[in-house]
Amino acid sequence: MFGSDCGSQADGNAMPLPEPTTLSAVVKIAERCNINCSYCYVFNAGDETYRERPKIMGQDVIEATAQFLLDGCVSLGISNLLVILHGGEPLLMGKKEFDRMCTTFREVLTPDLNMYITMQTNATLIDQDWLEIFARHHVRIGVSIDGPKQYNDEFRVTFKGGGTYDAARRGIDLLLTAQERNLIPDISALCVINCQRSADVIYNHIVHDLGIRKLDFLLPDFTHDTIGAQDPRLYGKFLCNAFDAWIADKDPAIEVRILKSVLSTLLGGPRYVSVLGREAINVVTIQSDGTLAADDTLRACGFEVMSEGDTIFDTTLQQFFTNDLMKRLSSDYQEKAQACQSCGWLNICGGGSLINRFKKENRFSNASVYCDGLRQFFSHVSQFLLTQGFGFSDISAALQDKVDHTAPWTREEVVSRPGVRK
Ligand code: SF4
Repeated sequence: MFGSDCGSQADGNAMPLPEPTTLSAVVKIAERCNINCSYCYVFNAGDETYRERPKIMGQDVIEATAQFLLDGCVSLGISNLLVILHGGEPLLMGKKEFDRMCTTFREVLTPDLNMYITMQTNATLIDQDWLEIFARHHVRIGVSIDGPKQYNDEFRVTFKGGGTYDAARRGIDLLLTAQERNLIPDISALCVINCQRSADVIYNHIVHDLGIRKLDFLLPDFTHDTIGAQDPRLYGKFLCNAFDAWIADKDPAIEVRILKSVLSTLLGGPRYVSVLGREAINVVTIQSDGTLAADDTLRACGFEVMSEGDTIFDTTLQQFFTNDLMKRLSSDYQEKAQACQSCGWLNICGGGSLINRFKKENRFSNASVYCDGLRQFFSHVSQFLLTQGFGFSDISAALQDKVDHTAPWTREEVVSRPGVRK
């Protein structure tokens, strides 16, 4: 199974998807990890190019990155910048260097841009000193955890094969204490779906045992070359069960991004995730040596699919977005597979994320590896909406994209409708 600690964090923490005036910059500040998750798309999916790059991004590259992003955003009219600190494990950078980097980003970028720093971490290295640094720079933090200890430690392991849950739990508890004291913003959790496990148990562990109220479930980064004989309907079943657990929960503050996004989209509201392939690509990845690449999750397709080797030192952001590779990815993204053209769910699904459409022989001209499971999930949420008293016409307008994606429905408004109970 291939997953990621951080790729989908490019969408931010359950915020509506970036407008064209927002850029997500995935900055690979540490190209190694202190643990060895067996499903990791960065280190265990065949791309070994990370070995050629510095383990940690140096201050010279950090300063050049800040200037590159400032110049690019200003010239492209981008006013909002999400800097996503990424790895490997970003905290391997070290406290002094991390603090200095955040200061550099703030000093160079904030006078002209609305800049937010986010980070996805495995949480195992967090201590009190780190909390002070996060608080000083308002770093928004996402933690990666796959559920209770027994589930988490199946794939999220050390290099010696031991579990990582206990260390992650210590870090998460520290973060939550700091959050309760309003020292840091809300933390969120990312959980890579293991369809052999119970969605209900995972949801309840993250939300009620750990106390994290913003989370997302990630479909593993399988391509048509790596999915093997797995049944995509098991992933659909997992999402349906997770949806039911979320809807049954009484706490209105809980957000599960993929579930919230599909619920909202089916009612003509905004989208919150790009993992279903419906959104434009406005992500740039900057590696530790300054090399530029497309969305980091494409790494599982092979590095040559995501980078031409341009760097922040010899290219502008505008040139990067219009180079041949990015133009090709953009058209790959637009041109949906034959199977998707006639699919009634296309406007909700978008044909699946690029990574899940990939096959070596024909690149992205395929439906998602999760197609059958996604249909099952969309159908399940639609059924739920019908029982809540929404009409076929409401849903069909969204399916036909006869909506402007601004109608904001909250889970509470949907759940509290009188409904048409069976
Ligand atoms: S559900 Fe399947 S066929 Fe329909 S758009 Fe998504 S991937 Fe394509």
